Amino acid sequence: MKGENKMLDPICDMTVDPAKAAGKFDFDGTTYYFCSVHCQKLFQTDPAKYLAAADTCMTQMDSRTASPFYETLGFFGPPLAARMNAELGRTYSTSKHLNWVFAPTSDARPGWGSENARWGNYDAYGLMGSTTDSSGYAFSMNS
Ligand SMILES: [Zn+2]
Repeated sequence: MKGENKMLDPICDMTVDPAKAAGKFDFDGTTYYFCSVHCQKLFQTDPAKYLAAADTCMTQMDSRTASPFYETLGFFGPPLAARMNAELGRTYSTSKHLNWVFAPTSDARPGWGSENARWGNYDAYGLMGSTTDSSGYAFSMNS
């Protein structure tokens, strides 16, 4: 299947085809692929630092009971949790992060989250925006 062997660059989260990667680096039993020599060099300077930072973020997010997101940052949670679980033996909750992507509200901004309805004649499913303000707005990309 096309795209089946794509990997995420651990520095910039860009999707990388291992056969076309600008570089790769083996660390702690895992091969990491990079979009550029710049990203590879950053990672190689201290790979444990980047993995520790990712663990700190995921541990903090896993400890929350409600979505801390109302824009698109939460979209990175499910693939990062799944990857770290599969490659590093972590046990982050992929279902919690996935459910937050589709949550209609958040701790950070109550009443804002994933749209799960039509707005008049417009399909708003999957957009992020106000789920309680009928005169609000929604968007597809933001951070
Ligand atoms: Zn990169």
